[in-house]
Amino acid sequence: MDRIVTASAARGTVSLVAGVTTELVREARERHDLAPTASAAVGRLLTAAALLGASLTGRERLTLQVVGDGPIGAATADSWSTGERAIGARAYARNGRADLPLNARGKFDVAGVVGNGKLQVTKTYEVGQPYSGIVPLASGEIGDDVAAYLANSEQIPSIVALGVLADPDGIRAAGGVIAQLLPGADEAVIAALERNVEAMRPVTAQIVEGAGAEGLLRAVAGDADLKLFDTFEVAFDCRCTRAKVETALMGLGKDELAKIAREQPHTEATCDFCGESYILSSDDVRGLAERLG
Ligand code: ZN
Repeated sequence: MDRIVTASAARGTVSLVAGVTTELVREARERHDLAPTASAAVGRLLTAAALLGASLTGRERLTLQVVGDGPIGAATADSWSTGERAIGARAYARNGRADLPLNARGKFDVAGVVGNGKLQVTKTYEVGQPYSGIVPLASGEIGDDVAAYLANSEQIPSIVALGVLADPDGIRAAGGVIAQLLPGADEAVIAALERNVEAMRPVTAQIVEGAGAEGLLRAVAGDADLKLFDTFEVAFDCRCTRAKVETALMGLGKDELAKIAREQPHTEATCDFCGESYILSSDDVRGLAERLG
């Protein structure tokens, strides 16, 4: 089971969250048959959503959506609380088969597959209006883009390190760390954390060598007075149901549904987020048309 751990450092002036998300990203890759570069892009976005999901409570929900002019088109990830110290998350890409050669540094060309565009972050609360912020993509590498969103839209200077390691057999490791600087964080602390992040081995290399969320936190915080808070379990989840799929189909209208029922013995509706498919017989579809009066 993947785990996410929250912590603070530097006398509570830095809020940290780190996690290993290998199983989560592996499930997203398998459900959507993602190509390697697409799996890195979706995996980083999904990891960011899961890490930020540790601060959600009740029925709150967080959605991260990257829309760019690269071959992946768009990628969406969201997360929510599934109970006491448990996080559910899911993600998909518009074109999950998007793939590019490795970049000049020998890494997945996530920036190339995403292209130029924007990151939209939406938070849905238990009550009241959802909050939504949009920033232009800083690099398209996802980690930089989430950091730019936190700095510009939420005014929280942040350090974000996300990683997905994949080989032809699938996902070998995935995880990340986010450090958010709270009011009162001094410049020296910020500089020290930035030095630690620059000096540390890539997140996925640390995970392959056996590091868990706590190890990642220690690598980032160094000797800055790390205090561990909570451990969360995180798993791929989707809240689609047959009833929701039926409601979506009813949006086609009575006449269109009646036509589908006449022409197709079966109708297959697939959930974008998890790839689950729901099969409806022509009688089922006719029933939906009748419910529309
Ligand atoms: Zn679903």
